[in-house]
Amino acid sequence: MKITFLGTGTSQGIPIIGSKHPVCLSDNIKDKRLRSSIMLEWSDFRYIIDCGADFRQQMLRENIDQIDGIIFTHEHADHTAGLDDIRPFCHRQGAIPIYVPERIVANLKYRFDYIFKKKERYPGAPSVALKTVYNKPFMLHAKEVLPIEFLHGKLPIFGYRIDDFAYLTDFKSIEASEKEKLSNLDILVLSALRIEPHATHLNLDEALKVIEDLQPKKAYLTHISHKLGFHAEVQKELPANVFLAYDGLQIQP
Ligand SMILES: [Zn+2]
Ligand SMILES: [Zn+2]
Repeated sequence: MKITFLGTGTSQGIPIIGSKHPVCLSDNIKDKRLRSSIMLEWSDFRYIIDCGADFRQQMLRENIDQIDGIIFTHEHADHTAGLDDIRPFCHRQGAIPIYVPERIVANLKYRFDYIFKKKERYPGAPSVALKTVYNKPFMLHAKEVLPIEFLHGKLPIFGYRIDDFAYLTDFKSIEASEKEKLSNLDILVLSALRIEPHATHLNLDEALKVIEDLQPKKAYLTHISHKLGFHAEVQKELPANVFLAYDGLQIQP
């Protein structure tokens, strides 16, 4: 399986529109972060986790002409707002499977009522095949996907484990019973927002503690705010097996 970081930024992306913060003004390409999303590829299959406002730009950058589905973690706009831009795939492939945690099905139908409308649909509207995700394993072709439930502040949301790879974004805390699903990971992708604490996201120190606790072979940090600092400087301070992800980074567990 190959993993591509389509975006590694927090909800506003980096740079923030109009910001004069030094990280927002940085010339380093690794300091430019679109909204967080990854692409998973194996055999001839290609799945995307989350579909924020930068989805179109991410698909163009990576030259993608076909996808097999989109898996959602939660309902926030930075993870869902790009759903309208699946239209080129729908026109070529037909209805695109979307894997949606049970709790947010109603929310997604509310946000994108025209996509889910059965009668009098606008002919150009995106078409989706809704697959509801419960907190139990499901199959994508021959691969098992294991949902992991954790809290994003007070909101219960999903991360996903496939083989020995796990993607947990917008993470704040996790119950012991769910944490058990994260043993013996080769690669953990975990969100780390900034240096200061935050009510609904891990800060850098908290993320490093979670990594120390879970002991993956390698960890990559994502969903990064400009307030974390410059990529090059933060990376130097991290433990040897922890890396700041950046847009376009590809890894192969
Ligand atoms: Zn987010
Ligand atoms: Zn969120």
